[in-house]
Amino acid sequence: MAVERTLSIIKPDATRRNLTGAVNAKLEEAGLRIVAQKRLRLTQEQAEAFYAVHKERPFYSDLCDFMTSGPVVVQVLEGEGAVARNREVMGATNPAEAAEGTIRKSFAESIEANSVHGSDSAENAANEIAFFFSGCEIVG
Ligand code: ATP
Ligand code: MG
Repeated sequence: MAVERTLSIIKPDATRRNLTGAVNAKLEEAGLRIVAQKRLRLTQEQAEAFYAVHKERPFYSDLCDFMTSGPVVVQVLEGEGAVARNREVMGATNPAEAAEGTIRKSFAESIEANSVHGSDSAENAANEIAFFFSGCEIVG
């Protein structure tokens, strides 16, 4: 499998509980390398643009409010099959359905406040990485 990159976001519920390091430890234990990382507060406009694919979903407006409710840590992860590997270590969207040892099983508060985001395809990963990072900010 090829080395690839994916976008990860540590969401406001996790930064609020000071879990950045705990989440990063799980990512690194899963064989993912954090090749870029920054902490920022999303504006309403940025959250709406980032989650535009979910515009028609009933939770869209709540999700954007949640994602702007505190700082996030956006990261680029690199590794063999990084998109799928990250989805695996994140666990299911609903923490009640997430496997033992996954980030969401360990830390998520609810289906909305579920601690992390991860790109769901290589194509979306490229777009999401470009949304937050310029090439010179990513150091492999
Ligand atoms: P993410 O895109 O954040 O990695 P995901 O791909 O597992 O998560 P999506 O279906 O893309 O899940 O939903 C995006 C986000 O919207 C979820 O991570 C969660 O924060 C929120 N969300 C999803 N479904 C619901 C729901 N039924 N009720 C409330 N919030 C939801
Ligand atoms: Mg998704």
